[in-house]
Amino acid sequence: MNRSSRSRAIRKTLLTVLVLNLTVAVAKLVVGILTSSLAVLSDGLNSLLDASANVVGLIGMAVASRPPDPEHPYGHRRFEALTALVIAGAMGLLVVQILQEAWHRLQSGAGPEVSPLSFAVMGVTLLVNIGVSAWERRRGRELRSPILSADAKHTAADALVSVAVIAGLVAVQLGYPLVDPLLAIGIAGVIGWGAWTIIRDAALTLSDTAVVPVEVIEQAVLAVPGVHGVHNVRTRGGDGLVWVDLHIQVDPDLSVRTAHDIASTVARVVEEAIGQPADVTVHVEPALPEHLRATRGYRVWME
Ligand SMILES: [Zn+2]
Ligand SMILES: [Zn+2]
Repeated sequence: MNRSSRSRAIRKTLLTVLVLNLTVAVAKLVVGILTSSLAVLSDGLNSLLDASANVVGLIGMAVASRPPDPEHPYGHRRFEALTALVIAGAMGLLVVQILQEAWHRLQSGAGPEVSPLSFAVMGVTLLVNIGVSAWERRRGRELRSPILSADAKHTAADALVSVAVIAGLVAVQLGYPLVDPLLAIGIAGVIGWGAWTIIRDAALTLSDTAVVPVEVIEQAVLAVPGVHGVHNVRTRGGDGLVWVDLHIQVDPDLSVRTAHDIASTVARVVEEAIGQPADVTVHVEPALPEHLRATRGYRVWME
């Protein structure tokens, strides 16, 4: 399977999951409102957030994977993080709303009206959830897509939430109406945790976290014939393209042609050492004492 048909297959899978998640969400939201069950409503909101997570996945593939252009010479990767942050913000707002309403209900003691419809909808949507998760996991394996695999895990975790809600409905019927708002608070916690992990991952991208240990690159570079030293190794990016820049020191009397050949070899060797596509910029310096030392606080390796 070539690259574009693979990403098309991933996109199609995400779209299908998106439609199913949306259907499940709407069914739960309607029943939650009709029966005034805060737990069912919160579960529906949680499914809605799954759908928005699928949207992030789709935007991520469509926008973030676009090649660099004159306005964005470093690519469009960060648009994915940006979208994720917007969704995390929406999740945070929802958490506050659910907590407020749960508090209100705990005060008033008002419980939901559980009907056969509640159980029917929760049961069917649970089955859909489990089916979606299993199918997505299989597609993720077939297509070797981390996005799909991660999303499948997420959907499976949400099936557990639905199981808890069904148990809660039983408890309400047995005469414990406060189980409903208490469950809603638990679901708010699940949503809040999801928002936190999204923010954490986006922060890694947005803050240019180093993606490869400096030692790995230094060792590879020093093995290149003609390289006397290396320092100022920096990496950032990841997820398909790593940006690397570094300084090497070579014999001061080399011709520009030879020095450039060495630099090109260094770039190739670094890409191999990282094991994924890399954009490597090599700054060439003469191997004189002032260059054969760590600068800007980076380490230096001398032969
Ligand atoms: Zn330097
Ligand atoms: Zn060049």
